[in-house]
Amino acid sequence: MGGFFGAVSHRDTVLDIFFGTDYHSHLGTARAGMVVHDANEGFKRQIHSIENTPFRTKFEGDLHKFRGNSGIGCISDSDPQPLLVRSRMGVYAIATVGVINNAEKLVDHFFSDSGHQFMAMSSGKVNCSELVAALINQQQDLVSGILHAQMLIEGSMTILILTEQGEIIAARDRMGRLPVLVGKDEDGYCVSFESFAYHKLGYQDAYELGSREIVRITADGIETLSPASDEMKICAFLWTYYGYPNSNYEGKNVEVMRYRNGSIMARDEAQNGTLPDVDYVAGVPDSGVPHAIGYANESGRQFARPFVKYTPTWPRSFMPSNQQVRNQVAKMKQIPVPELIEGKKLLFVDDSIVRGTQLRETVEFLYESGAKEVHMRSACPPIMYSCKYLNFSRGNSDMDLIARRVVQELEGDEGQKHLEEYADCNTQRGKCLLRSICEKFGFDSLGYQSLDGLIEAIGIDREKICTYCWNGKE
Ligand code: SF4
Repeated sequence: MGGFFGAVSHRDTVLDIFFGTDYHSHLGTARAGMVVHDANEGFKRQIHSIENTPFRTKFEGDLHKFRGNSGIGCISDSDPQPLLVRSRMGVYAIATVGVINNAEKLVDHFFSDSGHQFMAMSSGKVNCSELVAALINQQQDLVSGILHAQMLIEGSMTILILTEQGEIIAARDRMGRLPVLVGKDEDGYCVSFESFAYHKLGYQDAYELGSREIVRITADGIETLSPASDEMKICAFLWTYYGYPNSNYEGKNVEVMRYRNGSIMARDEAQNGTLPDVDYVAGVPDSGVPHAIGYANESGRQFARPFVKYTPTWPRSFMPSNQQVRNQVAKMKQIPVPELIEGKKLLFVDDSIVRGTQLRETVEFLYESGAKEVHMRSACPPIMYSCKYLNFSRGNSDMDLIARRVVQELEGDEGQKHLEEYADCNTQRGKCLLRSICEKFGFDSLGYQSLDGLIEAIGIDREKICTYCWNGKE
């Protein structure tokens, strides 16, 4: 994934960019960068690895070197950025968030013109932002260049550009999968992925870009350079999983959506007669917790935290490359409260069930610790397809997904032709999938939020939400 923050103002913006970018640290764990523009000194840029040290610690020593009335910052899960590019349109800084599925094809196309080259990363891959800049530079001006890049890129691409005039050009991806919001204060404007980042810095909501829209942001205002399209497919996981609780996208708050989502699950189960009698409702920390609060409030069952996360010495960015060590770290972070587990009937809500690896260990641990019953709920429907639009690491291939693996076990290749039925827990195949996963993990009961319930909880038009993960509809 990745996140971004930019500001342009009549005052110095360095601290706003520093804190605003830092507030996107939950969206990436690899690289981070800041570039600031000063009318006299031009651009100043810094990029650091944030793999083992958080953004603020890495950049606070650089702050005294930065000065300027405009700048952009980004958190990235892969490529180092922002990049400084010199082109016929002048020098500009560029940061991007998204994924280019046809990157190799686009690079090859450049190579067919003799004389083109890209800086290669150690993997041999080309930096996404460099490729986007190369596509933009094929046209005569930034706006036509961005539109040209958006048209050629398969995947999605949100782009922030800081020009040598100290203006920000912001472009939301073609289908609006990720948000781009603009805030305003008395001295200028900012642009951000997370709205809470600028609320906290004293900016008010000013504008939310539509899909494909391109705007110019100066200290005095926002101007649309290329209009939004009517189509939108905003990522549903922004609300259920990775968006920050305090943020709003399309006017809908993340935390409130999660309460509503849990409450809809409990409401529907009460209607179907599947609401279990439990001592406590709990969330799998952290992102399952608000869904569980909603479930507990609606069902009238008590909310509790049988697991509490130990976070002070485990920065979120600590991501060992070895899967076994990663699992061990996840386990070490979760500390149980035996008084809330022994002899108790527990219902856990998780934001989703993806591969199920950690879940199995959690359940085994709960039974070993004397839990009488363990019921599991997933705050979204069974995930049938891995994301092809964002750099969203929830499984590298469809067969990493527990639901797809179980379908294969149940029916072999034939099952893969009936995924729509399997994804709906009201059909025979859907019930069969539910039962098999439930038995596999040894839950006393298992339930998934329905797609209708999820869409109801988000509360915007169904057509505007990306649901590809669940129904494969593009
Ligand atoms: S496929 Fe899934 S993760 Fe990707 S944008 Fe759509 S809803 Fe989000």
